[in-house]
Amino acid sequence: MIEPSVVAACPRCSSDITEADFVALDSGSARYSCRSCGHVQHTEVLIGLEPHTSTRFVVSVRWQSGRASTAELVALMQLTTKYAAMTVADAFSETKEAELTLGIFEDRRARELQERGRALGLDVSIVHDT
Ligand SMILES: [Zn+2]
Repeated sequence: MIEPSVVAACPRCSSDITEADFVALDSGSARYSCRSCGHVQHTEVLIGLEPHTSTRFVVSVRWQSGRASTAELVALMQLTTKYAAMTVADAFSETKEAELTLGIFEDRRARELQERGRALGLDVSIVHDT
């Protein structure tokens, strides 16, 4: 098995943060979570210029009634650290569309997000990123 490449040293516990610790792509940066101490590390990325070509998927959530219900919003905040960090009002204002794109994720992460989202009662779809 190929070892995942090291992205950075954790500034808190100095463990290696690797590609395997990838959480999500935020606008222009990749978010990693240190598996030793939970420290959240952001790393700048230029999407499209990454050397590795693992399959990526666009992950999105479709709301049952055309916009997020309170239950769906709570589930969303449990699913993603990005929305967990928001106030309910901010999360609500970001979920006005019928569908919310969570981001582009590597294959395994995308499927994991979909499974966790479905377990939380969300209609999570993954579409191959072309
Ligand atoms: Zn750490």
